[in-house]
Amino acid sequence: MILQGACAILLAVRIIHTSELTVPLRGDIANAVVNFAEHTVSLVALVSDQKVDGRPVIGLGFNSIGRFGQSGILRERIFPRLLAADPEALMCDGELSPTAIAATAMRNEKPGGHGDRAGAVAAVELAAWDLRAKLAGEPACRTIARTFGRAADTSVAVYAAGGYYYAADSTRRLCEELRGYRESGFGAFKIKIGGAPIHEDAQRIESALEIAGDGTNLAVDANGRFDEATADAYAQMLEPYGLRWYEEPGDPLDYALNAHLTATYPMPIATGENLFSAADAQNLLRYGGMRSQDVFQMDPGLSYGLGEYATMIEALERQGFSRQQCFPHGGHLINLHIVAGLGLGGCEAYPGVFQPFGGFGPEVHIASGRAALTERPGFGLEGKPELAEPIASLTEHAV
Ligand code: MG
Repeated sequence: MILQGACAILLAVRIIHTSELTVPLRGDIANAVVNFAEHTVSLVALVSDQKVDGRPVIGLGFNSIGRFGQSGILRERIFPRLLAADPEALMCDGELSPTAIAATAMRNEKPGGHGDRAGAVAAVELAAWDLRAKLAGEPACRTIARTFGRAADTSVAVYAAGGYYYAADSTRRLCEELRGYRESGFGAFKIKIGGAPIHEDAQRIESALEIAGDGTNLAVDANGRFDEATADAYAQMLEPYGLRWYEEPGDPLDYALNAHLTATYPMPIATGENLFSAADAQNLLRYGGMRSQDVFQMDPGLSYGLGEYATMIEALERQGFSRQQCFPHGGHLINLHIVAGLGLGGCEAYPGVFQPFGGFGPEVHIASGRAALTERPGFGLEGKPELAEPIASLTEHAV
C-alpha cells in the first residue's frame, strides 16, 4: 500500500473520534465448512470535525461477512495511529484520502501475514470512503467512479446467494428460500454443495434448477472443502447441468488444484474470496490457470479495502482479464456501491441471511435481476433498518 505522492492540501478534515463495535451475525446456517452462528463483524465509525445540520459527519464501514470482528487490532494498533496522524497527511487534492488512511493504519506493520489485519484495515478504509462520499454529498458509487475516472452505473446485476444446509427438511427449505428470492426480483441464485453426500447434492441442484429454470442461473459453492479427487468427482457430476459457476472447489491457496480443474472442467470456475491481498491475487493470476470464462471473487472488505482491491483489478486487466469477470464476495451495500463505481460484472446479495449486514435494505429496488442504487450519500448503511440499532450504539457518544 503506497501513500499518495505530492498532494495539494486545501482544508484538512480532522478525524476527531474513532469507534468500533463487534456485531454478531443472526441466523443458524452452515456451509460445507463453517456454521455462521458464532461469526461477528466489526462495524467502524470515523467521526469527522465537519458538521451538517449541526451534527458531525461520520464515516461508517465494516469488514465483510464470513469471518470475525477485529476489535483488538482496531483498538490497539489502527485507531491510535489514525488519531496520532497529522490531519493534512490524511488528505489528497482537498479530499479525505482513504489511501492515506489505509497507509497510516498499516504503519509499522510487516508485509505478508494477511488475515484479520486485512479485515480491520478494510473496515477503516471503507469507513473513509463513506465519509468522503458524505462530505461530497453523493452516494459512494459516484465518489468511487469519479476517483477512478469512470461513470457510475447505478443499475447493478445481482444474484441471490444462500442455499445453505438447514438442520431439518433441508431441500424443501432450500426451494422455499430460492422461490422467495425469485419473488423478490432475483433471477440468478447460488447454493452450497459439499455439506452432504454427492448424490444428495445432485438432488439439491435438480430441485434448485426447478426454480432457477436453467443452469446459467444457478451457481454452486463448495467453500474450499474438496481435495483433488472429490473436486474432480463433483466436476463430473456438475458438468451436464451447465451451471453458471463452480465456486471454490479446493483450498483458496491451492492454485495447482485450481489450475487442474480449469484444465479439465469446461464450465466457469469461481474463486478468490479468501485471498486477502493483491499479492495473493497476483499468485492466483500467475498459477491458478484462470480463463476468460472464470470468475474472480476477491472482497474489498476482507482485503485491506477498496484501494488494494483496485490494485487487483488493475493486475487482472493487465493480464488480459476483464473487470466484468469480477463478482466480489459479500452481498451487502458496500460491495454494491463498489461494483457500481468500478463497473464490475455484478454483485452477490444475501437478501435473507447474515443480518444485520446481508442484503441491501428496502431503499434498493430489485427487479429483473438488477439492483437500483439510490442517491443517499455514502454507502447508505443508515437506510438499512437492521443496522439502525448497531449504528446508534456505535455513534451514541459522537452526536
Ligand atoms: Mg463462496
